[in-house]
Amino acid sequence: MIDVADGLTHVLVPYALATVLSLRYPWITTRLATVAMVGGVLPDLNRLQWIVPPETIESILGVSVSWRPMHSIGGVAVVIAIASLTVRATYRRAVALLLALGALSHFVLDLLLVPPAGTYQYLWPITSARLVVPGFYTSHDRWVAIVAVLLALAAHALARRRSHALERDSPVRIEG
Ligand SMILES: [Zn+2]
Repeated sequence: MIDVADGLTHVLVPYALATVLSLRYPWITTRLATVAMVGGVLPDLNRLQWIVPPETIESILGVSVSWRPMHSIGGVAVVIAIASLTVRATYRRAVALLLALGALSHFVLDLLLVPPAGTYQYLWPITSARLVVPGFYTSHDRWVAIVAVLLALAAHALARRRSHALERDSPVRIEG
């Protein structure tokens, strides 16, 4: 079963990151922050193996498949490339960048999990080595989700204050 708190962390952290980055890079719109949230859950598409077992696909296509590479930079890069081709050319780069931001934040968060939960072949296909860092939380720790909520709220408040300040500073608005 997908842990709700864990899933929440994986969408809220990229949202907070994208929102904070939007202060510096105004082209990162609220919509693109949502794209980063989607990126945050991309690596966990490997969980599709529970819904669509590899054996099922193998029996249909006759080739051996594995969902496992989804949880690596290689698998995610393929999905991002496909996904960015489905959007308009003007948004392609922005969408790819924000999906990548979300996916990277996912890997960093997973890496900080207490092993063995956080040990994956993240760098596949560059290397199949399993990265292991000591980690300091488990996927059942609720406080991580609480921290993520607070971070997201803080980022949101910061972005709102900034946009209000911008409105205040430019009383003469040029209406298109
Ligand atoms: Zn994960």
